[in-house]
Amino acid sequence: MHILARCATCDAGLPIGGDERADAITCGRCGRTIPLHISEAIRLDRAVDICPVCQGADFYGRKDFDPKVGLTVVIIGALISGVFYWYGRDLIAYSILAAAALIDLVVYGRLKDLTVCYRCHSEFRGTYPRTAAAFDLHTADVLEQEYERRIGRR
Ligand SMILES: [Zn+2]
Ligand SMILES: [Zn+2]
Repeated sequence: MHILARCATCDAGLPIGGDERADAITCGRCGRTIPLHISEAIRLDRAVDICPVCQGADFYGRKDFDPKVGLTVVIIGALISGVFYWYGRDLIAYSILAAAALIDLVVYGRLKDLTVCYRCHSEFRGTYPRTAAAFDLHTADVLEQEYERRIGRR
């Protein structure tokens, strides 16, 4: 399993392996020491049960997707189709828009799910079966605040 631990101080992403033996890592950006407690299930890539960074047990699943990439495809498509529209080639303009939306859909559909910790936003990628539910804004609000109070960020 690949883990992207999230530094609580500066939000830097720190990649660690599920088989990491160290009991702490140091943030390369701000120097904060982050204690790690990697559970047996994570070490064996069987499940994401307890977050190694914050010890939380609440996770959500989402597509492993950078929203900026999808948006870029749509914007470029819209720009090109705008040019054709300007010259009165409506049909071509609409086809390009549709194609851009389709590319977005195909890219999105092929993406794998990853699991994210509600509290510290660490990300988990691996072959383990995905059991986490979809993102819930209310849960995120409650758990993030609880975590930020605990680490003294608020
Ligand atoms: Zn940091
Ligand atoms: Zn966490």
